Amino acid sequence: MYHCAGNATNKIDVFQAQLMGCKNTLAGRKVKASQYTILVDLADGKRALAYNTQTTAFAVLDEDEKRAYRALEADGPSDCSGALDTLWATGFLVPEGEDEVEHLKAEYWSQRDSESTISLTIAPTLGCNVACHYCFQGLVKPNGKMSEEVQDEIVRYVRHRARSSQSLDVCWYGGEPLMDQKAIFRLSKAFHEVCQIHGLNYSASMVSNGYLLNKSTAERLLEVGVGMVQITIDGTETAHDINRPLISGRGTYTRTIQNMKEVLAGTAFRIGVRCNVGIHNVDSMYALLDEMADEGFADFGNFSMYFAQIEATTDACADAGEVMLTKKDFNSRLQDLEARARAYGLSGMDSPPRFMGLCVAASTNGLVIGPEGQLHKCWETLHDEAKQIGTIFEINKLDDDIRKKRWAAWDPFDNPTCRSCKIAPMCSGFCALKFLYPETMEGDSALPCPPWKFSAAEKIFAMAESAGAVTPNDWDPEQATMKKMQAGPWQTHKSMELSRDIVNAIVMPGGA
Ligand code: SF4
Ligand code: SF4
Repeated sequence: MYHCAGNATNKIDVFQAQLMGCKNTLAGRKVKASQYTILVDLADGKRALAYNTQTTAFAVLDEDEKRAYRALEADGPSDCSGALDTLWATGFLVPEGEDEVEHLKAEYWSQRDSESTISLTIAPTLGCNVACHYCFQGLVKPNGKMSEEVQDEIVRYVRHRARSSQSLDVCWYGGEPLMDQKAIFRLSKAFHEVCQIHGLNYSASMVSNGYLLNKSTAERLLEVGVGMVQITIDGTETAHDINRPLISGRGTYTRTIQNMKEVLAGTAFRIGVRCNVGIHNVDSMYALLDEMADEGFADFGNFSMYFAQIEATTDACADAGEVMLTKKDFNSRLQDLEARARAYGLSGMDSPPRFMGLCVAASTNGLVIGPEGQLHKCWETLHDEAKQIGTIFEINKLDDDIRKKRWAAWDPFDNPTCRSCKIAPMCSGFCALKFLYPETMEGDSALPCPPWKFSAAEKIFAMAESAGAVTPNDWDPEQATMKKMQAGPWQTHKSMELSRDIVNAIVMPGGA
């Protein structure tokens, strides 16, 4: 067995098991294949890559090991000997009778209910200087800014929670958050003071269109603890400026790129570029990558970029539905785009994620706060009063709100497709909004499964290739995830209905 990377880190104590072997750790019990092991056969027909999404064990299996693993999958639990001994010791098997899903669910809920981090997404304004065609808020946005009264109430809330927490994590959001810098700097100063008094760690990031983020603003943000920003670039200048013009109609590309270069060269500020991909701009993404490479972005250690699918997730999403790719089409293009970005050094090999679905909305104590103190669970519902769960001025009433209760009642492990999913340790439902409010979403936008589900085999192969364990010739096209579905079936509109019924039954027993 060739170990691709020493990244086995958790849950089943792989290294402990390795030292002890089957005999000592299993005390005569049989072993079974772990639900979370994914096998990808290699082109020689003999070896296979194995990756376990729970233990993060990763290896190239030789012919004997692969045969032993396949037999275990087909025939059920077996005594642990021969090749199985190695597979057990490296984290691809579990003891017979172990309920891996319940084990994972317990770990998920302990993180979801944790009070150790105060997680806040704050939109000081919903106003924006850019008019993106697919914006979830629609094109007409309120311009109000956050009053000092609202700010003081937020600080009061943080102070209250600080006594039982270890860290404060803030994400500045909008609208365009830099349209209300006064609130950002005033609140940041107050947060620092609270964190200092109560010994909390403080971290902050921002989602911005980048148009106002020049070097001096970035320096000031760094001083108040904002160390990272996500900026969206939607293709080369022509494609980007059609999608993301200023409200006046002028383009934003040139200034945004110029800002990014200045900030990256002159500060330690980290910039993650998100490229929203749709039917209209997917082809221009290659030209964008060429351009970013030519402009020298790969030389900045504080720069990275990634691709995301344009989705119509709210009924205000302007023309997103018209330019949206299907999940299958997006994911079949994604591999190629990611490979090109890596080849240019514009992005690295991502480490496999953990519990992606534990966003601010799913976290029991996470809150999204709007400019008037309106409270939400999800940042995509901020514009929608019907989905508001309360107000910062009446925070004690929050737990009585029926919409808040629906968020709290949602559990990805109630859903059979998530329960049987091989990447549940990475994903955990991905996006609660899609389970709870699918009625405002168009087509595939209502489906949650992330790219890993559609390209698990390709991603595992790319990880092995970057570790030097395989070469491109080892890839067997028959292993394409879209064909073999190695991570299990993906969610459909039908398979998600059950989750909604369960949530409604919990929140409104008897349909009251
Ligand atoms: S079925 Fe889809 S949403 Fe559920 S855990 Fe798996 S990948 Fe995530
Ligand atoms: S529920 Fe979905 S859209 Fe809302 S914050 Fe979480 S991941 Fe984002």
